[in-house]
Amino acid sequence: MDIQELYQKYKTATGISTDTRNIQKGNMYFALKGPSFNANEFAQKALDLGASYVVIDDEKYFRQNDGRYIWVPDVLTALQDLARHHRQQLPIPVFAITGSNGKTTTKELIYLVMSQKYLTYATRGNLNNHIGVPLTLLAITDDVEFAIVEMGANKVGDIAELCNIALPTHGMITNIGKAHLEGFGGFEGVLRAKTELYEYLIKHGGKIFVNSQDPTLSNMVKRMDHPFLYPTEGDDYYCELVSADPFVKYKTADGTVHPTQMLGAFNYENIAAALAIGDFFKVPEPKATEAVGNYAPANMRSQLIEKRTNLIILDAYNANPTSMEGAIRNFGEMTGRKYKMVILGDMYELGTYAEAEHEKLGELVSLYQIEKVCFTGQLVSAALKKAPNALYFPDPFSLRNWLQDSQLEDYLILIKGSRGMKMEGLVEFI
Ligand code: ATP
Ligand code: MG
Repeated sequence: MDIQELYQKYKTATGISTDTRNIQKGNMYFALKGPSFNANEFAQKALDLGASYVVIDDEKYFRQNDGRYIWVPDVLTALQDLARHHRQQLPIPVFAITGSNGKTTTKELIYLVMSQKYLTYATRGNLNNHIGVPLTLLAITDDVEFAIVEMGANKVGDIAELCNIALPTHGMITNIGKAHLEGFGGFEGVLRAKTELYEYLIKHGGKIFVNSQDPTLSNMVKRMDHPFLYPTEGDDYYCELVSADPFVKYKTADGTVHPTQMLGAFNYENIAAALAIGDFFKVPEPKATEAVGNYAPANMRSQLIEKRTNLIILDAYNANPTSMEGAIRNFGEMTGRKYKMVILGDMYELGTYAEAEHEKLGELVSLYQIEKVCFTGQLVSAALKKAPNALYFPDPFSLRNWLQDSQLEDYLILIKGSRGMKMEGLVEFI
């Protein structure tokens, strides 16, 4: 089936589904293969559940006489091609966002700011990979005026591939740090991978937004024609960090100080990006700052939780060396309780860098006045070399028991670790 024909059928569908568990009537079902399943098997089930079409690539499940069956050589490629084709029909700016940390947060902020003026669509949740990006694009309806697409990468080439599907006109890299070092083969790999977005935008005459306060990024765009640098003193959209104890307060060009509901100085960077982009697209500043002020992060991305006399900063959504450093540096400057404690878990996906990076974590926490330093997990034991006085719990059970017995009072507590560590489970024991 050629792409035009597939597109016509997609236009009559109520949306795309890749999972029979949440299929909606009239959906076009794409039978994607996974490492341990072949969704072709569920084609008939998808139709029974109300799908209007099923796109499959396994002839075994194809039914000649049923017009609802669409056979393609490869379902994933068909999904990506369809997404690109759909994107080509949309005469709107598509803003791509990638980077090591803060993509989703920045995306949410840009979404809130841009929604003040435009009908905006943004990646739902964290659908940022080779499947999520096509799904994001295919969910953009004809009335949408501005789209924001989050792009994630685990290896070199991922972002180039996603750009060739989403065809962005504008974009930014939040920052380049030490994340997914294993797949990238080190920091140089991360740098190359993220640069793929800049390369695409340069080649296609797109606009690049750059945090001028980030040395790696501003260095990369030095010889580039007209990148949009922010924040720049004297400009309307200029803003600066006032404090982050615990919530970020920032100041705009006219001197007004704006409170937010976001924790951590690193969030100021995400805010500055959203304000700059809002300004570029002519969103009135008071509306933009109001939208930023209303944003309260959820899903364990720097949440503040009060437990008796203790105040917990739960940042358990994920962790890598760069976001860990940002969180600890910020925590080091925070006040508000008599004592401080950090509970830090393993950082995953570091491959051969794991030992050295966890050692550095030990060094980092030793720089600050923190009464109790707790490590939990296997990899993080390497941190003890540089922080010999820290408490160490190889498994979460022993840590839970210790927390329950300790009955902590008047502590400011930072909890952070990789997603797989499920550090949020500790809160109830404090
Ligand atoms: P993922 O790779 O999982 O999609 P992401 O890049 O979308 O992550 P967010 O979900 O926005 O990132 O934030 C995850 C965590 O990263 C936050 O809880 C915070 O600890 C940290 N973080 C957020 N913004 C920044 C930033 N600008 N610089 C450094 N760390 C940040
Ligand atoms: Mg994300």
